[in-house]
Amino acid sequence: MTLVHAFDDSPTLVSLMRLPAEGGVSMDIYVDVNERFIATLGYSREQLLGHTPTELGIWDPMERAAVLEQIRQLGVLNNAPVTLRAADGSLCPALLNAELVTLDGHQYLLTLLRDISTADTPEIVRREAAEQALQLSEEKYRTLVDHSQDGVFITHDGNYTYVNKTYADMLGYTPEQMTGEAFLKFIAPEDHGKINEIWNKRRAGQWEQTAYEINLLKSDGVARILASVRSGPIMLNGALSSTGTIRDITAERRTQQALFQAEQSFRNIFENAVVGMYQSTPDGHFIKANQALAGILGYESPDDLIRNLPDIRMVYADPDERVQVLSGIEQQGQARNAEVRMRRRDGSPIWVSLSARVVRNSANSVAHFEGSIYDITAQKAAEQALQRSEQRYRLLVDHSQVGVFINENGRYTYVNNAFATMLGYSEAELTHLSYRDIFPPEELAAADTRFEKRLRGEEVPDNYESSLLHKDKRTRVIVTQSIGIIELEDRKVMIGTVRDITDQKRFEAELHHNANHDPLTGLPNRTLFIQRLSQAMEQGRHRSTPSYAVLFVDLDSFKVVNDSLGHAVGDQLLIEVAKRLKQCVGPWDTIARHGGDEFTILVDQMERPGDAVEVAERIQAELLHPLQLGDNEIYTNSSIGIATGNPQYLTTDEVLRDADTAMYQAKAAGKAGYVVFDQTMHERARARLQLETELRQALDNGEFRVYYQPIVAVADQRITGFEALLRWQHPRRGLLLPEEFLHVAEETGLILPIGWWVLHKACRQVHAWRKRYLDAKSLTISVNLAHKQFMHTNLAEQIASALQETLLEPSALHLEITETIFLESPGVAETRLQQIKKLGARLHLDDFGTGYSSLSYLSALPLDTLKIDRLFIADAHINPKHAAMVRTIIELARDLQMDTVAEGVENEAQIRLLKQLGCQYAQGFLFAPALESRAAEQRLSGEEVQI
Ligand code: C2E
Ligand code: CA
Ligand code: CA
Repeated sequence: MTLVHAFDDSPTLVSLMRLPAEGGVSMDIYVDVNERFIATLGYSREQLLGHTPTELGIWDPMERAAVLEQIRQLGVLNNAPVTLRAADGSLCPALLNAELVTLDGHQYLLTLLRDISTADTPEIVRREAAEQALQLSEEKYRTLVDHSQDGVFITHDGNYTYVNKTYADMLGYTPEQMTGEAFLKFIAPEDHGKINEIWNKRRAGQWEQTAYEINLLKSDGVARILASVRSGPIMLNGALSSTGTIRDITAERRTQQALFQAEQSFRNIFENAVVGMYQSTPDGHFIKANQALAGILGYESPDDLIRNLPDIRMVYADPDERVQVLSGIEQQGQARNAEVRMRRRDGSPIWVSLSARVVRNSANSVAHFEGSIYDITAQKAAEQALQRSEQRYRLLVDHSQVGVFINENGRYTYVNNAFATMLGYSEAELTHLSYRDIFPPEELAAADTRFEKRLRGEEVPDNYESSLLHKDKRTRVIVTQSIGIIELEDRKVMIGTVRDITDQKRFEAELHHNANHDPLTGLPNRTLFIQRLSQAMEQGRHRSTPSYAVLFVDLDSFKVVNDSLGHAVGDQLLIEVAKRLKQCVGPWDTIARHGGDEFTILVDQMERPGDAVEVAERIQAELLHPLQLGDNEIYTNSSIGIATGNPQYLTTDEVLRDADTAMYQAKAAGKAGYVVFDQTMHERARARLQLETELRQALDNGEFRVYYQPIVAVADQRITGFEALLRWQHPRRGLLLPEEFLHVAEETGLILPIGWWVLHKACRQVHAWRKRYLDAKSLTISVNLAHKQFMHTNLAEQIASALQETLLEPSALHLEITETIFLESPGVAETRLQQIKKLGARLHLDDFGTGYSSLSYLSALPLDTLKIDRLFIADAHINPKHAAMVRTIIELARDLQMDTVAEGVENEAQIRLLKQLGCQYAQGFLFAPALESRAAEQRLSGEEVQI
């Protein structure tokens, strides 16, 4: 039994029959069969077992008898052709191999039947069978074999005994040429080994039919064909022979190989593609998938994907989308680059591009889908980011405060709101206008040039300032534009930004103006004046006649107005004067406020040297008219210095300095006039500068002296005191009088230290004299106080310290002041006077009668003595008018309980008159000039008294 079942998987039909113990062939029954036997003949196992083949009609009784006879003689049977009948009545030709076996004392027949009913079974086999066993008509089969599509051969003893025409044609022979030849001759030498091996096996008793491929030689002895051979051994006339079929499979193999290669490469592509590829069923399963697809969807391998993804719908982010895609594919047969959102195994979303087609079966219903997808998540993200950023930029640009535009071929194709508004248009109005519509006529040519240059690709500044025309066609908007060329959808367009800088420009201009102009009068200031002057100097450098002049204008009474009517009125005055000055000059000329009440005028483009003088005269004539400032009618005038340009001037300072000098000259000459600077002034100015320098050192060098002029009582001409008078012992120029240097000391402020020095020195001297000389116990000392000293805040301190240090009796100190101190600030003057009185010193009003003084203040102020000015004394004895003045002064003083001192008494007549009028004291050359202290002492000691 086991023996039979060993053949269960074999294509061979195997049966085991028990034979009757002796003779009686009708008694052989099936005891076992293999599966193939059952399947091929269509009987069930039950139907077969226990029955004889003749009984079932499987085997023809005559054929069976003949076969059994042969087996009994030989003990074995090889490849005997037999014909069996299947259950359904169909005939099944087979080759029978059988042998007798003895098992457990019984004889059994084991039959191995090779089913030869399949299409490729050589007809020759049947013929052989017919010839040998069934003795069928040879003619009938020969025709069949001869016309077979396959090559057919029979060998006997190493030679072909038969080849059909098909086989002979295959190699390029006739059947006659091959018959009788050794078959090895037709086999390619490289395959002789193979054929020998087969034959060796046959000789060793392997009677299996073999199928093999072999190379045959064509008639030229060189070319080969590949043949598929099926052959089996037969015993023919006692010799081992073979018969078989041959098919030329050269072309088939070539195609096969090509197919195989193609398949191989497609498989390679499929497996290694970066694009995911698949086949899927309509109900949502992957049939096939490649590694790329698995990777895209987050699976390890195609197997992993196919096994673990139960339903393709799960990969769609939106299951409805799959429905849509599928219906699209079904309707159009395919989908191309559909962008679909999918989900990876871990749930993360991806975007893929999907292409798929439907594959239909012969019934035209959907067999499966095949398609490809690739991951476009990154691309999609970039696209979306771009879109978002584009939206953002659009929003930014639309709402930007800066104007933005795109211009194509000169026309605006996009403008933002800021740009349109800047020019008074709506966005729609400005779009489609040409740049030529918004450039003002004066800038159109420049704009055209820029535009054309840019078109030609030439260099144009990216950034430039221009003005644009407002919609109203009049207003100019000053802008800075910045333009670049970009590629937009394959076209070259200009993209630009526009910023309105009108306000900025105005502000800049204002700043510039402020930096160069006086805020009060709006006139150019010193800085601008100097710029213009230096330009004029540069232009005039090469001319023989002067082309410019500088006028230095100083208002004569400004200080008085400012102090008495207040700064507001003072400012008004300056503004008014500025207006009038402007009327006096030409368009080329520059008027500047130099500072305070000083103005400078540059008269430029002069034709005649006299032009500057004419301007000065016009100014003075203009200022003659009174100015109405509020309720006040004010008269003002000016002193003007003129410096005419000449090539010797190197700096603007020099010109201004000379004009200034000339102005001082004009002032000194009595105000309301003008003076043209000349070289002598320059000399004087230089001298003054030198004086100033020397004056500064004089105090340190001990060059100052105090001289003492006696003051006598008119009644007995006894010396009652001295006036301290300053002298300068100049190292080169000898003894200098105050008139030669005092004004410089006052202007420079040097008068303060000098004045305090005089005060101390004189006090000390007189104190010494009072102690030394018996007659001098009540000697007084008169010290002149300069205006600046008087106004100085530490005046009282200085006086107090002088009195303390010198131990002088305070009432012996007489301080001489002039009326000018009341002009400026009467309040301050009054305080000062009270301070001095408090210290116990006396106050003398000097040079009385020459000033502007109204007599009213005399009574209110704590003055002790009036000094009658020398001007009146000089001719009082012969000039009744002056005599009357002197009398009035003396009477006034008496009424106010003040003393009087007459200055400049030079003769007896004068002293007689003074005595007559009741003047108490006198000083003058009649008695003594200012004396050195030693000479004064001689007077005091009486040594040289000559009165
Ligand atoms: P002053 O205060 O009027 O002084 C009197 C001037 O008259 C002195 O001139 C004196 O020499 C002069 N003089 C006296 N008697 C006669 C005379 O009979 N005939 C003529 N023709 N002149 C006479 P001096 O010393 O040249 O001083 C001039 C002025 O300088 C003074 O005028 C005074 O205002 C000022 N001064 C002098 N010394 C000082 C000082 O120490 N401090 C200040 N602040 N001023 C001083
Ligand atoms: Ca004096
Ligand atoms: Ca005087």
